[in-house]
Amino acid sequence: MHEVDMTRCLLLSMQEWRQRHAPSVPTVRTVHLQVGDFTCVEPEQLSITWGVATADSWLQGSRLAIEPVPLVGRCLACGGSYSPSAAAGYRSPCCNRPMEEIVSGRELRIRSVDYELRASETTAPNAPKPDPNPDPSPTPSQSAVPSAVPLRT
Ligand SMILES: [Zn+2]
Repeated sequence: MHEVDMTRCLLLSMQEWRQRHAPSVPTVRTVHLQVGDFTCVEPEQLSITWGVATADSWLQGSRLAIEPVPLVGRCLACGGSYSPSAAAGYRSPCCNRPMEEIVSGRELRIRSVDYELRASETTAPNAPKPDPNPDPSPTPSQSAVPSAVPLRT
């Protein structure tokens, strides 16, 4: 299944991200994703697959926040951008050219991760000073994950 492969890629990216925080393990609340319309990923299905794949792992309880990215093509005849539609055979409405260049709509990218480290961990960005009586409510933090997930076609 398509979403299973996508989830596998995301898990690999998250593993790499986690290693930057070693030896502490971040508690991940939300993984913010950009998912292109042209990836044919069903956001709902991806969330379900994510929940199954992360059960009993360090990512258990995390959820995906999926931001769709519209499909945009560029017409190579006139250079204009357009929104290709399946109904029009993805051809450009200006010059009736086949879709030759995709500007956006194929991305599967982790934009940011909402996570928490315990207040006693000093590796958290904007972490409070170590406290002998750690606050039970951890500090939320955000970290950009620049690594894009390669898409297979
Ligand atoms: Zn054109």
